[in-house]
Amino acid sequence: MSGLRRLRLFAIGVVAAMMFLPMALFPQKSQSQGLLSGIADGKTRVVDLSYAINDKLVPWPGDEKVFEAEVNATVEKNGYFTRSFWMLEHYGTHLDAPIHFPPGKATVDQIPAKQFFGPAVVLDVRAEAAKNADYQLPAARVEEWEKKHGRIAEGSIALLRTGWASRWPDAQKYRNQDASGTMHFPGFSAEAAKLLISRKVSGIGCDTISADYGASQDFAVHHLVLGAGLYQLENLADLSDVPEAGAFLVVAPIKLEGGSGGAVRVFALIQKQK
Ligand SMILES: [Zn+2]
Repeated sequence: MSGLRRLRLFAIGVVAAMMFLPMALFPQKSQSQGLLSGIADGKTRVVDLSYAINDKLVPWPGDEKVFEAEVNATVEKNGYFTRSFWMLEHYGTHLDAPIHFPPGKATVDQIPAKQFFGPAVVLDVRAEAAKNADYQLPAARVEEWEKKHGRIAEGSIALLRTGWASRWPDAQKYRNQDASGTMHFPGFSAEAAKLLISRKVSGIGCDTISADYGASQDFAVHHLVLGAGLYQLENLADLSDVPEAGAFLVVAPIKLEGGSGGAVRVFALIQKQK
């Protein structure tokens, strides 16, 4: 092989390595690129992960008044249609602001806007949850995800997919309370929460009514995650279409001054299969 040829092959090798290295180092980043521009040209699917709000959603046990809407003006009477509404901050698909548990933390309007955009890390525990309603995602499952998809990128949003959305909006099935009133549904474990916090995720979310598993008495995940200044998304709608890696999330909570949380619209941007 001539020196020139060897040099040329070497150069091709370097270029190829440079092209694939970012994919290997930042698998999530390379997959997220182009998702926004793909919305207009039909290459990206936008999936709405929020439930429409009405008075028939599943409330936290004990919450009686949850939502009320009143018509203030009608087209017939006033020439235009408006309503006023009242609702709980933690009802339907909602965001828990850091101040929800630890005092002195950010209210919903104070969460930095950049925390609302990030790659989705989907942790699928549907099989485990079907067998054990008290299942808590172990930290090892987060590590397993990283073995498959690479280290969780800073600013990601970690979603726990339990399959519980299929029970919505049947309060009995969704809350799954036993005779003593204790709820039984899966959640994050404190160890998994700690690991996700160490990866500097922007927030976590779940398709159940709480990030802690249903039978939790101490709300360890709430204390850890909110205490670290992150937010939680609860009662997310069906996550089955969101891939384990590669989707991008847009989280748009109501900007309620001083709020402990509030209704949130969550969108997943997903590349359409070619
Ligand atoms: Zn909440």
